[in-house]
Amino acid sequence: MSKSLYFLLILMYVGMNPMRSSAQQPLKPKYVLAIHGGAGTILKENMTDSLEQAYIEKLTESLQAGYDQIKQGKSSLDAIEAAIHVMEDSPLFNAGKGAVFTNQGKNELDAAIMDGSNLKAGAVAGITTIKNPISAARAVMDKSEHVMMVGRGAEEFAANNGLEVVDPRYFWTKQRWEGLQRALERDAERAELDHDDKKAFLPPYKDEKFGTVGCVALDQHGNLAAGTSTGGMTNKKFGRVGDSPIIGAGTYANNATVAISCTGWGEYYIRTVAAYNVSSKIQNAKMGVREASQAVIQEIEQLGGDGGMIAIDRNGEVAMPFNTQGMYRGKVTADGKITVEIYK
Ligand code: ASP
Repeated sequence: MSKSLYFLLILMYVGMNPMRSSAQQPLKPKYVLAIHGGAGTILKENMTDSLEQAYIEKLTESLQAGYDQIKQGKSSLDAIEAAIHVMEDSPLFNAGKGAVFTNQGKNELDAAIMDGSNLKAGAVAGITTIKNPISAARAVMDKSEHVMMVGRGAEEFAANNGLEVVDPRYFWTKQRWEGLQRALERDAERAELDHDDKKAFLPPYKDEKFGTVGCVALDQHGNLAAGTSTGGMTNKKFGRVGDSPIIGAGTYANNATVAISCTGWGEYYIRTVAAYNVSSKIQNAKMGVREASQAVIQEIEQLGGDGGMIAIDRNGEVAMPFNTQGMYRGKVTADGKITVEIYK
């Protein structure tokens, strides 16, 4: 045997021996679902034990609801709807029940969902009477020829498709109302990130600042999907729409690359086309999901914005970067192991 053939055989053995490679590179857990409950000035010292516990429990319940769908072989879209319903129905989050107020004292909700298998998407903006906006977004995707519907037309469409309608007063909560009053006092002109209201962390209001919700998932059929639901920003102008319902800005999914849901100062996410930007970096710059999502958070920061995002790629790799003090977040592995985190 020639010397070079001998070396080639050794190289092939080293490269192909599965025992060797698994000993050197322990397999990373494969994730199937991740959620966020908003990013912002979330500091341990401003949190009571009971509030922290309430968050951990709700985030866990949401992850479990999404995971149950995946485990049963349901679609990533079903998993997203299930996980987001849990957070929309809780006053802890700025989505559904806990939505923040506009400068006119109304709750205007935005949501979007996207199917990575066929790039279909649905979104609603500025709705005031649909209990679960993420399902309204899904109805637009599944049952209309459109991608985005706003205001009364979206509400009527959702109602006609059997979604639960509530009186706008359903979304009224004392803590959000008081948050608006303080914001109005401070600066009537400037829309602000609800969770960056530092005053709100001072007693007795310190337990009222929470964020947008989102979910990304990878189902057993290999399909990625993403969904986001929000009340927007406290004291936002009547009629303002943020990034969450804008496909490519706050929400995006593509089986070829990644599923993304964002949270943060929406205007910056729109301007950086944040969610699609991550996908593009994976596809065109051949970056990994962590590197790509971190790079986009940096672009947002350079413009003066802040927030975070969750991302899952087709291999079940999850990234959850943020440049704020904290982000309510969690993920679950293919075998059901749940992890929840809040702070940096
Ligand atoms: N991105 C949302 C918006 O600008 C707010 C948030 O994520 O907290 O409407």
